[in-house]
Formats: sequence, structure tokens, C-alpha cells
Amino acid sequence: MAILRVAQLGHPILRQVAAPVKPEDLSSPEFQRLCDDMLETMDEYDGAGLAAPQVHVSLRVVVCALSRERPAEFFINPVITPLTDELSASYEGCLSVEGLRGRVERPNHVRVEAFDRDGSAKEYVLKGFPATVIQHECDHLDGVLYIDRADPRSLAFLAEYRRHGPLVTNPEDYDDDEEGEEYEGEDDDLDEEIDDDPNDPTDEDTR
Ligand code: ZN
Repeated sequence: MAILRVAQLGHPILRQVAAPVKPEDLSSPEFQRLCDDMLETMDEYDGAGLAAPQVHVSLRVVVCALSRERPAEFFINPVITPLTDELSASYEGCLSVEGLRGRVERPNHVRVEAFDRDGSAKEYVLKGFPATVIQHECDHLDGVLYIDRADPRSLAFLAEYRRHGPLVTNPEDYDDDEEGEEYEGEDDDLDEEIDDDPNDPTDEDTR
């Protein structure tokens, strides 16, 4: 196993549409090694997810943890179908866009169909944080970054975000105490899990 280098914003591979994995390649030692290395890389950088283009491999492979309790799992050739028109906002970060946060609205209820690393087919219906994570990761397979979808006025460096909090919010996020708490809870999850930058000296929460 090996920790792989993470491509940073500006590397052309992050803007390419990745190729599907051929079923006959799934069991190859090379492909299985890629899976192992992606897991190790995601752990090393404390990410909630990682897509193969982020480690310079233009294949439709995503690994992510859908909750703190579940082990990370693979989504190969994933297909996402939104199940609602309703959007939820959260602040996202990305291992390929170090030290930045931005507010993104996405459908909060989606279906994902994919293959696991052993070739078995699977399908999940996801809501909330896992729905956000899987959409963020699958966007990478189409050369899309969260900053493309973020409200530009919400973008903040991590240190400033931690100091001042979100710059842009929905009034309705805070209309009702309960909703406000829920919003902040999801936000905290993303903050910790999607992108804690281990090299950022201002990042005191880094483990
Ligand atoms: Zn990302």
C-alpha cells in the first residue's frame, strides 16, 4: 500500500471526464492496488471521500465513508439519480482545493448505483451528509469541483472560516432553532470529515 499524491486545483486531470472501469479489470492486481492505495490516502488526509482523478488516475472510482460508523467503501462506475428537487446547503471542502470552504446547494435525497471493488452491484438511497459526500465525489469523475457549484461570495479560507463562520447563509436555515442546529451539525461534519488539511498549521483540529 502507498499514500498517493493528491492532485491540486489547476492540474488538468481534475478537469477530465474519467473513463469507466472495465468489468474484466476489477479483479486485476493493479486495480485492487489502486483501491488499497486510495483507502490509505483517504485515511492519511482524513478525508470523508476520495475520487481516483484526485490521485491522478482518470477512472470512475470513488471511495467514501457514508457515516462515521461505517467503514469506507467503493463506488465504481457510479450513477447518481436525484430523488427530489429540494436542495440542501452545506459548506464543503476538498483535498484538491486545500484550505478553502464554500457553500454548495445539492439535492438532499439521491439514489446511487455502483459496483463494489469485488464487482458486486449495489444501490443506496441516501439523504443528508452522505448524499452530499457521494455527489461531491462523483462530480470529480466528470471534471467538476465543488467550487464550480459554490456561491462565490461564500468562499473562505479555512482559517477565516473557523474564525468568522459561514459568510453566506439562508435566512430559513436559522428561522427555526431546530433547523438551525441541524444545519450547523451537518456543517461541522463536513468541516471535520471532508477536508481537514493536515499541513495547515492553523488547523488545530487536525489529528
Ligand atoms: Zn473533492
